[in-house]
Amino acid sequence: MADTSFLDWPFLEPRHRDFATRLRAWSATTLAPLAADEPHGIAATDALARRLVAVLGEAGWLRAAVPAAHGGLYERLDVRTLCLARESLAYVSGLADFAFVMQGLGTGSITLYGTDAQRARYLPPVARGAAIAAFALTEPPSGSDVAAIETTARVDGDAYVLDGRKTFISNGGIADHYVVFARTGEAPGAKGLSAFIVDATSAGLHIAERIEVVAPHPLATLRFDACRIPRTALIGAPGEGFKVAMGTLDTFRPTVGAAALGFARRALDEAIRRARARHAFGRPIADYQLIQEKIADMAVEIDAAALLVYRAAWTKDVHDRRVTREAAIAKLFATEAAQRAADQVVQIFGGAGVVAGSVPERLYREVRALRIYEGTSEIQKLVIAGQTFAAEAP
Ligand SMILES: Cc1cc2nc3c(=O)[nH]c(=O)nc-3n(C[C@H](O)[C@H](O)[C@H](O)COP(=O)(O)OP(=O)(O)OC[C@H]3O[C@@H](n4cnc5c(N)ncnc54)[C@H](O)[C@@H]3O)c2cc1C
Repeated sequence: MADTSFLDWPFLEPRHRDFATRLRAWSATTLAPLAADEPHGIAATDALARRLVAVLGEAGWLRAAVPAAHGGLYERLDVRTLCLARESLAYVSGLADFAFVMQGLGTGSITLYGTDAQRARYLPPVARGAAIAAFALTEPPSGSDVAAIETTARVDGDAYVLDGRKTFISNGGIADHYVVFARTGEAPGAKGLSAFIVDATSAGLHIAERIEVVAPHPLATLRFDACRIPRTALIGAPGEGFKVAMGTLDTFRPTVGAAALGFARRALDEAIRRARARHAFGRPIADYQLIQEKIADMAVEIDAAALLVYRAAWTKDVHDRRVTREAAIAKLFATEAAQRAADQVVQIFGGAGVVAGSVPERLYREVRALRIYEGTSEIQKLVIAGQTFAAEAP
């Protein structure tokens, strides 16, 4: 990666610079050959995703996704480290970035709101890469509108019984456990939800459908048919599910911006290489001002995105408070900017940029989902507007 000057910004500490430098070197030497060929089809994607989790675990990188008491790196989840990890991994492989972050997102609710017994059981294998985690919020009728969740969980003796469906669940089909949000009915809407840990082996949990998307990514629709789980599987208190979901996303949303940054930085580096090497009308295309403008636009947007991402991560780490506004701004800007960067690198490559399997073509596909998952760009704008109005209240 050409530009590492951001590692000297005051948002980051020496431990962050050390982590990023080591992970970048490892990604170039160990990850790049592993992820060189994109998998085709569900079975190949599942196999590579499993392998990436195992390799990331063996190399110790997944320790960033859980707290130190349970095999992790730091006492609390360190959002700057999560961002650096995603940025460095996404630069090389979207699937590796995804494999990494799902270990954190899929256990974040347990880390932040679970009991010591839940943490002790679920976190250490996830940090080693010996178990795969997932986070199941979205349903077929409700993605953006979390308060409209229809999956139910009712008490039956010493168990909760879940009925309903979840869709677009990352790691669906390969996960060992899912954090699932369901309606327990303490109140209407958002105040009547609760969070649960559901083992993949639970009777009544079915993989209803596997979903293939534009870039390799294990995804499934889950069906809960009178799925019985112990009452001890509840995370937090009944009725706190919305708080658990939003608190978890608050930590992980800046990291979506960081992954986008990794894709954008790769797009810029590839664009610079190509612009210098490719000749048209007797000169390198880098000499033409219309190409220079694209490079300049990408460089400006990358720096702006990085400032927003690491501002959000720093604020979360240092002030240990909700960063709803900062995270939404970082995610919105970085993911939209990365999409523009991916489009520009394709343009600079010309025909070579749309060849299946080329780096620009891969980046163009890999970045797309980031503007949708963990809150679409439109939802981020609503959040930012709401926070801005609230801050300016008369
Ligand atoms: C690759 C991938 C991985 C995913 N992984 C997970 C996962 O692991 N766990 C999980 O729970 N979910 C996951 N999701 C689901 C994702 O979070 C949802 O797709 C997302 O929240 C949007 O929901 P939806 O698809 O139902 O779109 P909808 O909510 O139906 O939205 C459709 C469109 O309407 C817009 N819209 C909705 N409401 C408004 C409004 N009030 N004002 C303006 N516009 C609006 C949206 O922005 C969007 O453009 C994943 C999705 C993808 C693509």
